[in-house]
Amino acid sequence: MLGPPGAGKGTQAVELARKLEVTQVSSGDLFRQHERQGTELGRLARSYMERGVLVPDDVTIKMVMGWIRAPEQAKGFVLDGFPRTLAQAGALDRELEDIGGIDNVLYIKVSQDEMTRRLSSRLICRNCQRPYHQSSSQPSESGKCDSCGGELYQRSDDRPQAVEKRIEVYEEETEPLVQYYRSAGKLEEIDGEGSIEGVRQAAVSAVGG
Ligand code: AMP
Repeated sequence: MLGPPGAGKGTQAVELARKLEVTQVSSGDLFRQHERQGTELGRLARSYMERGVLVPDDVTIKMVMGWIRAPEQAKGFVLDGFPRTLAQAGALDRELEDIGGIDNVLYIKVSQDEMTRRLSSRLICRNCQRPYHQSSSQPSESGKCDSCGGELYQRSDDRPQAVEKRIEVYEEETEPLVQYYRSAGKLEEIDGEGSIEGVRQAAVSAVGG
């Protein structure tokens, strides 16, 4: 899943993986998991995440490749938030060389106003990472996750200053991947401003129904 922060990649990655009966991972969630567990990687990642900048490629690539190589992923998987740089895309191509690389890249597009609006009103479950929004997807009980009952909180990098930086970083480092995958004939463009259900249907049909 490719797209700017707040495009809805996480929500759609979970839905798509369920539909395709494969696993899914968010590189941001992996970093936040390390942070919660207090690992060295978690501490390192935090120092980048809180500023809204990318964690260095070598560290990120090692972590995600470790996840991809696990036996659970042998049937296929959905990646959310990785790759985010050309170096990461190259590493992924090399890792999956034998099977011709990834099958599809779903590029979810939203305007900058919509990104900012969504991120500033987003709450995340501390336990299962499910996102909620004031406008489109409120929890049934305020402050509590519908899926697992976990506490909802605002990510520190969803505060205005970090959001601005994340959008800038996205434009500089991640947007070149649109052309990279378009040239490879793998890019499927999806309008991310419709309803969650509308985007879900477009995502499912983009990977062949
Ligand atoms: P996300 O949950 O995808 O919005 O990611 C939150 C933060 O985690 C980002 O702002 C980065 O600091 C870090 N991060 C997540 N994925 C990557 C990646 N593929 N490469 C570098 N940093 C990442």
